[in-house]
Amino acid sequence: MKNNTLAIFGGQQVKTTPFGTGKRFGIDEATELLEALEQNTLFYHFGNKVKQFLSDFNEMYGVKYSVATSSGTAALHVALGAAGVTVGDEVITSPITDQGTVIGILYQNAVPVFADLEPHSYNLTAESIERVITPKTKAIIVVHLAGNPCDMEPIMELAKKHKIKVIEDCAQSYLTTYKGRLTGTIGDYGCFSTNDFKHISTGDGGIVSINSGQEEDYYTTHAFADKNYKRQEKSVIRDIEYLAPNYRMTELQGAVGIAQLKKLEWICTRRNELGEQLTVGIQNTKGIHPMKITKGGWCSYWFYMFTLDSESLKCTREEFSTALLAEGIPNSPGYIPQVLYAQILFQQKQAYLNSHYPFDQGNYDYAIGSCPNAERILQNAIRLDINEFFENKDIEDMITALNKVAAHYRV
Ligand SMILES: *Cc1c(COP(=O)(O)O)cnc(C)c1O
Repeated sequence: MKNNTLAIFGGQQVKTTPFGTGKRFGIDEATELLEALEQNTLFYHFGNKVKQFLSDFNEMYGVKYSVATSSGTAALHVALGAAGVTVGDEVITSPITDQGTVIGILYQNAVPVFADLEPHSYNLTAESIERVITPKTKAIIVVHLAGNPCDMEPIMELAKKHKIKVIEDCAQSYLTTYKGRLTGTIGDYGCFSTNDFKHISTGDGGIVSINSGQEEDYYTTHAFADKNYKRQEKSVIRDIEYLAPNYRMTELQGAVGIAQLKKLEWICTRRNELGEQLTVGIQNTKGIHPMKITKGGWCSYWFYMFTLDSESLKCTREEFSTALLAEGIPNSPGYIPQVLYAQILFQQKQAYLNSHYPFDQGNYDYAIGSCPNAERILQNAIRLDINEFFENKDIEDMITALNKVAAHYRV
């Protein structure tokens, strides 16, 4: 049997050793948790764990203020509320992202507007955003997908010109940099998730950084995550001027977060090395477009997503994916099942059951085909796991398998 016969056709499988694994949580998290319990309170405002977590985050990110939340979705909602996004406003964002990116927009009764993506970085661009700006545009949520930064310079310029707030969705881009600056510190707000699938986990949780450094903005953001209670004064002010949810983080999450943050740098550094190694190994492979890192960017690879060049391959994306799996390389076709605007919620304009509000406040069109690059990305992409516990050998095997499968199916 020849070595280049695909495993799916009875050839020898490329991957013969298990992928590297490791434990994310250990004695440091346990110690912090015990300390949290010994405080005799798990309320963030009375204990010290969430406060410590945020102050460590602030130091790492070089920001003055941040607010902890119960999830990344909550962090985004809080940033939108703090940015003043309200009924009838429009918020521009990416059609390829977690639905958590748009949930807060709709809860503010504002309308998500989708802009198309750059075909190989999978990110929003200033040009695509500009095409969908209207007088109602209040904010942009840029998503640094998979840890790859958006090209922020032109986006910030555009936002300034139109007086639009910029919220960075950094759920997948811990310690990612763009021209030497950390993502999450470039726009008006940076939003992070510590759900169990991100670079670091507190089970669930999130952070919003307030980049103006203004105390007033901090207070507004802080209150918006806590029922609009104003806890800055000695006695809490409970006056409600407008609606805000309760998205508080507990001391238990803060405690785990303190220990997790200490590991963040090596996690991101390692993921960057592995992701870059993969790109080097496939950059000359005909039939495969590697993930394109934005110029001036440093990527912390939450995952690795490449696309197939359908012109030079005689297989479908599903055939390629299945063949790769047979070589011992787990992978998933695409990322999310379809662009967000193809979801029933947008197609039927139904954010709230039995209602078309707030979509009926304007003339919104979520036609299939409206972001062709994004749709094409999801049709041609294959996603590979990147994990800080992988060995370099694991990536070598991925490269060998990718090249083997591509060679087989090349026209
Ligand atoms: C995970 C994720 C979110 C939502 O975070 P949760 O903590 O799950 O609410 C939002 N945006 C992106 C890009 C994400 O990956």
